[in-house]
Amino acid sequence: MPTKLGARGTAALWAGKLTSALSRGLRRGGGTTLPGDVARWIDPRILTKLSRSLAEGTVVITGTNGKTTTAALLRHILEAQGRQAVANQAGANLIFGVTAAIVNQTSWSKTLPADVGLFEIDEASLPRLVQEVAPGTIVVTNLFRDQLDRYGELETTAAHIRRALTQGPEGVTAVLNADDPMVAALGDGLPRVIYAGLDDPSLLRPELSHGADAKFCPRCGSAFIFEGVYFGHVGRYRCPRGDFARPSPDIKATAISIEGMERMRLRVSDGAQTADVDVPLSGLYNAYNIIMALAAAKAMRVPLAKSAAALHDFTPAFGRMERTTIDGRAAVLLLAKNPTGFNEVLRTAIQFGKASSFLIALNDRIADGQDVSWIWDVDFEQLKGAAQHIVVSGDRALDLRVRLKYAEIPSERIEVVTDWRSALKRAADATPAGQTVFVLPTYTAMLELRAVLTRDGALRPYWQGQPADAKP
Ligand SMILES: [Zn+2]
Repeated sequence: MPTKLGARGTAALWAGKLTSALSRGLRRGGGTTLPGDVARWIDPRILTKLSRSLAEGTVVITGTNGKTTTAALLRHILEAQGRQAVANQAGANLIFGVTAAIVNQTSWSKTLPADVGLFEIDEASLPRLVQEVAPGTIVVTNLFRDQLDRYGELETTAAHIRRALTQGPEGVTAVLNADDPMVAALGDGLPRVIYAGLDDPSLLRPELSHGADAKFCPRCGSAFIFEGVYFGHVGRYRCPRGDFARPSPDIKATAISIEGMERMRLRVSDGAQTADVDVPLSGLYNAYNIIMALAAAKAMRVPLAKSAAALHDFTPAFGRMERTTIDGRAAVLLLAKNPTGFNEVLRTAIQFGKASSFLIALNDRIADGQDVSWIWDVDFEQLKGAAQHIVVSGDRALDLRVRLKYAEIPSERIEVVTDWRSALKRAADATPAGQTVFVLPTYTAMLELRAVLTRDGALRPYWQGQPADAKP
């Protein structure tokens, strides 16, 4: 049924769709946000008006890392239950990107063929999105210091989220990571919270890596006692003064086993049901994305057993453990955009992928962080024993080479190649037959590398949708 938009809303929708068609024609990256700018300029209430027709409401996902994969996992679960989702493109996670997504998917005759909205949003934009779409569920994955120049303190980011959670619509359910102290603290006093977490002590590590944030109790400021961490500062913690501890998760993953880069298995339990989940992803950080998606699905009344079964044939989101072939060598693309994310993809590649050949690409555009000093917080020392060959590329390839030198990686194993096509070729050529090249780019470096691979025919253009769209 067409949505009632009024004359102004109709004009906004059509102008947005026209902008989208034109920018696709000009090959300007598929127009992931511009149609949103145009539509909102004509009718600032266009997002509210269009989202009203979503019968099952809206889910919003925020946090520093894992938004895109969590959203893709949740979308996969919901679509397996026959629900049709409208979702924004990975990276287009400001209010304009969300508006563009819903404008693009609404027809010229004002019909939106979707019953649920599924939006990933930047933490600072969350309060505004909540005001405009009144989501039924808000998911917070984790909170880490992002690239240094992007936002202020982590406390400011947490305050944005807290404001959105307390001023959200009546009946909103918060889905929070119990193992991240700053995220867990957001649940204080909220009427409906689902806490999700990992509960497999065999995978806890003793110490905090040097990228760790949030080491202090949000109530009294004392340094937390960590029994162990799964990554960064995410793990089992308590305040020594006893006023704050990890909430017991309502849904948790136990017995996690990771088999190479191919698959991982988790036993999950929500108190009522227990199910085994088998997902084609790797790495402990992805165990969090999986448990957060299962918890969000629970908030949307999907039984755990059904969610778990749906994830068996999940396809990774673009650039997030996406597989391709580069000049005859198997390759995995692992987006790495901040110290914690970088540490975890390095660890996963080395520990589970037995990685020895790398292409690491560092750009310094706005979306990457213009101050690249954050690379000094990345634990590149992990590469010391593992890496046989590393191609460094991107705008700041030389900074990266200096950083790797300080990580004591022998200089004869590091090669600087600035041209993208040549960098891919060199990385593939240096990879022994039968092995995999691991490509770790920052955000805009990934877009550019993907553009080269798309021209080569190895990947599809990103505006033709994430692999999740490609189901028959
Ligand atoms: Zn305390």
